[in-house]
Amino acid sequence: MPITADWHIHTRNSCDQASLTVADLLAGAAALGMTDFGVTDHLHTPVNLPDLVASRAEFDAAAPPPTVHFGVELSSVSRWELDAIATGAHGAPTYGLRDGGPADGPLALGITAEALRALGVEYVVAGAHWPMYVPYEREAIIRDYHRQNLFLAAHPLVTIVAHPWWWMGHWQAEDGSYRAEPWFDDFGAIPASMHDEFAAAALQHGTVVEINLCAQLLHPGYPERYKAQYLDYLAMLKARGVPLSIGSDCHHPRYDIDFPRAEAMLATVGITDADCWRLPPRQG
Ligand SMILES: [Zn+2]
Ligand SMILES: [Zn+2]
Repeated sequence: MPITADWHIHTRNSCDQASLTVADLLAGAAALGMTDFGVTDHLHTPVNLPDLVASRAEFDAAAPPPTVHFGVELSSVSRWELDAIATGAHGAPTYGLRDGGPADGPLALGITAEALRALGVEYVVAGAHWPMYVPYEREAIIRDYHRQNLFLAAHPLVTIVAHPWWWMGHWQAEDGSYRAEPWFDDFGAIPASMHDEFAAAALQHGTVVEINLCAQLLHPGYPERYKAQYLDYLAMLKARGVPLSIGSDCHHPRYDIDFPRAEAMLATVGITDADCWRLPPRQG
């Protein structure tokens, strides 16, 4: 069954290497048979707000049909960094303040409900993107990412928790692969009790959990065994009734995703497009 919805797409208005225009997205998505999808550029802290304003302007200028939506991808950040950035003493750090904060301090999102409303943001994708000032040790990272995932699953502004247990950077081998820490040698390093708690939080708050394609299932540097274990994890979430959404996490200049490969992988654990969450078309 072909994938027809994609709720995680970056345009050139993201503060990273993404360079897709909304016009090219609309053409590319039509060519791939995508019927329902959304733009989700990054916002980590208020420093990135001009990017989201630009994303909205480009979206409006492209005048997409009601089945194409305007969203955002937020990061879980620390209250400490938001307060520190607000003092003006740190300039305008694109990715917040990734050093110096308290390891167990309160988590936060870098935008208010009011600002999201003002920009017409229809849905919020939010993910853990970096460790929150804990040491690069397997168990510390696992506890920290679980804490962030729970925070996001319970947050009233979050529609979709992006890419649970995605990891980038530290421990990456020179050839781009990830072999061991924090959980690539064995996804079972993460206690099942954490998955239970996360599934319960998502169910309690009606939060959707993302099936991320480019950054996880199709990631060229992630081990096949990890991917097989991760597919079982997704199937477990589905079996518990947690709503799942598909997100390509496209960062490319062209919207050119290997959806057939993702469909085949998901089919091995009985997940199809028809099982997945989607936003209804915009009214008016
Ligand atoms: Zn992300
Ligand atoms: Zn993303």
